[in-house]
This record gives sequence, structure tokens and C-alpha cells, in this order.
Amino acid sequence: MRVHVLGSAAGGGFPQWNCNCPNCAAYRQGSPHHTARTQSSITVSADDSNWVLFNASPEILQQIRSFPALQPARQLRDTAIRAIFLMDAQIDHTTGLYMLREHRQPLALWCHALVRDDLMRGNPLLKVLEHYCGTRWNDVPLDHSHFPIDGVPGLLFSALPLLSNAPPYSPHRDQPQPGDNVGVTITDTATGKQLFYAPGLGTMEPHVWAAMQTADCVLVDGTLWTDTEMITLGASQKTSRSMGHLPQSGPGGMLEWLDQLPATTRKVLIHINNTNPILDASSPQRQELARRGIEVAFDGMEITL
Ligand SMILES: [Zn+2]
Ligand SMILES: [Zn+2]
Repeated sequence: MRVHVLGSAAGGGFPQWNCNCPNCAAYRQGSPHHTARTQSSITVSADDSNWVLFNASPEILQQIRSFPALQPARQLRDTAIRAIFLMDAQIDHTTGLYMLREHRQPLALWCHALVRDDLMRGNPLLKVLEHYCGTRWNDVPLDHSHFPIDGVPGLLFSALPLLSNAPPYSPHRDQPQPGDNVGVTITDTATGKQLFYAPGLGTMEPHVWAAMQTADCVLVDGTLWTDTEMITLGASQKTSRSMGHLPQSGPGGMLEWLDQLPATTRKVLIHINNTNPILDASSPQRQELARRGIEVAFDGMEITL
């Protein structure tokens, strides 16, 4: 299986348009240690021809331009994106659907029923799309099954619920329900290799940890370095955990968990917030990741499993 990182930043991207935190300021001053990143999305294929898009970021047009495999040009109007899988209903993961409205058939959409609900009511994006190409919805089961996606040979998908929150516009905001946020295990049926992908992971529940332990590569939440990062900077009143993101450092943080995985597991952080010191390639935090064998995803990164 081939995994292509289209975007590796959290909501807002890097640099964020209105932000002057140390990272965003350093980038604008031309720092050689900071690289721009678009909002998080990956695409996966087993045959290099048929791809599943995970999340549709606001920068999707730029991301498609940057990865020609998604535009094979076999006919006047064409795409290699066979299906779109949404992990949640957040703005940074769904807004790009509007940009795909020229599709000639309904877009093949995979998401949990709760996510579809939020996108029909709180933020009725799917209703608006009905005036254009429309969508063909497929429910994402949470029953541990490994299901195929039409038109995408060689891969099986298994979703698991992640404890987090629905978006602010959701009718059930602050009453989290299984399915609001999911992680996914993708299995290559020819090689048996597995990727575990969870760009928003707030609590390490036993079923999540089990999925991470069997994966050959984990591509997981790298949003914030400390729990109080946004508060310390004066950017927000919320802790990392309260926003549904396990911080990397400190007791019970993501680094402690990743350290317990087998040495053979490839460990990659994605969905990195612009305030996170790991975006500075010369920072001690980045050196600590290198010491622990943990990689930082970047736009254009390729993972072959
Ligand atoms: Zn996000
Ligand atoms: Zn910033």
C-alpha cells in the first residue's frame, strides 16, 4: 500500500493566516528550519490507480495539484479519487468537499451516521452539495469488521470510535457519542501490512491501543506538544486534552505510548498545530523525537507498506 500525505497541519494550517506565534513568525521571516504545511489529509492506494481520500481539507485543490497521481487524465473529466472517507465532521476535514462539486457523478462518501447527520443539519454541507454533484453515502460500521470500498481493490478498512467531541455546530456538541470521531486501520490484502490512522486522538482507550500495537505504521495525532500550549501562548483557554488531542510530552502523553510500541513499528505524527515546537526542525523537541525514532509528517511524505 502506498500512503501519500497531502496535508500534515492541524486546522489553520502552517503558517496560520492570522497567527504570529514563534513558528508562524519564524516562517514569515524566512527561517530555513520551518516548512509550510496544509491542513491534514492523506490518500491511500494499493494499485497506484484507485485512491481513497481521507478527509477533504480546505486546501484540497492545491493538494490534488501537488500529487499528479490523483489526476490520471484518461478522459475529459477524470479523477483517481474513488471514495472520500471522513474521520469526523470538523471544518478542516470537510470543507474541501465543496471544491469537488464538479464531479460528474455523486461523490462516494464514507462516514459514520453521526458525521453525516452533522453535515445535514449543523453544517448542511451535504445538502448544499445536492445542488451540484451530490453524494452517495456509505455508513462506516464500528463493529470491528474489515470492509472493502467499491472501486478500491487490495485494501480493507476497519473503523474504531475515538473519544472526542463533535464540532461546535453539532446538535450533540459536548455529549460525545461513538462515531463522532473515528480512527481507521487500513490493511493491504496482498501483504497483510497495516496502517493505523488517527489525526485526532484525545484518549488512549484499550481498543485504540490494541489497534496501534498490531499496525506496521501508526500515523497519529501530533497536534500539540504540551497540554497547556495554547493557554501559555495566550492563543486559547483550552487544554490539548479538552480539544480532543493527547499532548505529546508529559505523563501519559503520546510519546510515552509510542515508546511502548515494537521497535519495528513506524511512528509518524500528523495534524500538527502551528504552535507546536516540533515544526522547528532545529528545536530540542524535534531532537527528542529523533532520539525516540518518531517522524514528523510533512506535505508530500510517502509511506510504503
Ligand atoms: Zn483538525
Ligand atoms: Zn502560529
